[in-house]
Amino acid sequence: MRYVWIPTVTVTLTLTLALAAVADEQHQVRHADGTLPLVLTAPHGATPRQQIPGVPERSGEGVEQFTTTSDTHTAQLLDAVVAELERRTGRRPYIVVAEFSRRSCDANRAPEHAYEDEDARPCYEAYHARVRAAVDAVRERWERPLLIDIHGQKRRPAVIWRGTREGRTTPGLLAGEDRLEGERGLLTLLRAAGFATWPESWEQDERPYNGGYTVATYGGHREDGIDALQLELGRDLRIPKERAVETGTALGAALADWLELHAEHFAERE
Ligand SMILES: [Zn+2]
Repeated sequence: MRYVWIPTVTVTLTLTLALAAVADEQHQVRHADGTLPLVLTAPHGATPRQQIPGVPERSGEGVEQFTTTSDTHTAQLLDAVVAELERRTGRRPYIVVAEFSRRSCDANRAPEHAYEDEDARPCYEAYHARVRAAVDAVRERWERPLLIDIHGQKRRPAVIWRGTREGRTTPGLLAGEDRLEGERGLLTLLRAAGFATWPESWEQDERPYNGGYTVATYGGHREDGIDALQLELGRDLRIPKERAVETGTALGAALADWLELHAEHFAERE
C-alpha cells in the first residue's frame, strides 16, 4: 500500500467534495460529474429514516428478493473512495447516491419491483436518469470506462463480494488480460491490500450477489452500456462508520493503482 491515511486530510477533502456534489433535494439524489473514467453508485446507502415524505413503507407483496434493509454506511464508504482517488490522482469519479430509504423505494430493482406508491416514482426516475447521464458522459469521453455499484452484505461479513453476472457485465475488463481476477486485476490488488474477496476465482459461483438491476441495466453486455461491477462489502468492513471510511480509503487507493496500471485502457477518445 502506498498511501498514508491522514484523517484531517480525508475530512477536508470529504467536505470539499460534499460541496462539489449536487444534492437533488426534491428527489433525494446526490450526484456529481467527474474527471475520471469511473462512475460510482450507491443505491442502498440511505438510512431507514430517510424515507420519501408521504410514501408508505413498501410491503413487498409478490416481489422476489424483497428487503427494505439499508446497506449501512455505503454512502460514507463511497465518499471515502472519492476522497482517496482525488488525493491520489487529483481527479474525481462521477457519483450517484440515493438518499431515499429502501423502505420507500429500492433503486437497484426494475421499476415494477422498486416502488409501490406513485409518489416514489420521481425519486426512482431521477436516480436512474443521473446514472444514465453519467454512463453516457463517460462512454462519450473514454474508450473503456467502468461503473462500480457499491453495496453491503452480511452473508460473508469479512469479504468483498464481486458481482458481474458471471463476467457478462464486464466484457471489456475480461478481454485479453483479466483485469479483475488476473495478476494485475482489481480484485487481486484488493487481496494484496489485505481484503478477502469472494468468489475466489471464476470457477466459483458468484450467486446470490452476482449482480443486480444496476449492473444488468448499464453493463458492458448492453449496446449502450459500459463495464459494470457490483461490489458487496461485508458488514465487518462497514461497521462502525470509521471502518467504512478506512475500507473506502483502501478501496480508493487500490482503484488509483489499478487505473494507473491499466492506463492504456482508460485513454480518452480522440
Ligand atoms: Zn444493496
